[in-house]
Amino acid sequence: MRSLPAFAILIGLAGSTGAGGAEPVRLGVYLQAPASTSAEVLESLRLEVERVVSRPGIQVHWRNQIDGNEAFHRVLVVRLRGSCTTELPAVLRRPAALGSTHVNNGRVQPFIDISCDQVTSALSRNWDWPTPRIPGDLYGRALARVVSHEIVHALTESVDHDECGLMKPFFDRHDLLARNLSLAPPSLARLDRALSLGIRGAD
Ligand SMILES: [Zn+2]
Repeated sequence: MRSLPAFAILIGLAGSTGAGGAEPVRLGVYLQAPASTSAEVLESLRLEVERVVSRPGIQVHWRNQIDGNEAFHRVLVVRLRGSCTTELPAVLRRPAALGSTHVNNGRVQPFIDISCDQVTSALSRNWDWPTPRIPGDLYGRALARVVSHEIVHALTESVDHDECGLMKPFFDRHDLLARNLSLAPPSLARLDRALSLGIRGAD
């Protein structure tokens, strides 16, 4: 099954710059989710994304809407699409991208779409959940794996993948449910370079 294509996007926004090498990159993430998405799922998603993305050089700031009054070094819009409840799928979706990013004229755009239905199907493919619903914390963490993957593509402005870890080109159920899935050294290096660029603007 393939789950994750590789695009991601993000966009480097605005030419806002840090005040110096010591200032963390402020990443504003505007998360849009269907109203039916539970607080437990969203909290689990946020925590896992922060675990993966937050590092000494970057701070993740979650927002529910864009008001244009805040300054961020990078801004991303993450949209959870479809049904993002923990209900087990009546019918599995044909495998397709779990997440994607918009690219316009070869330029990465700051819009990331996540297919909740595809994630739910990926979690249920070749597996019968012993519970009537997917546990909310696990579902949120699975969504976060896809969100984080796309965020790294966006921040690094790269479509490169690793052979293992969070930036594998495809995710299966085990990847989505693994207790820990982290960035492999190549992606960590790309992310470090990208963050350094982001901070350096004020020099
Ligand atoms: Zn990818």
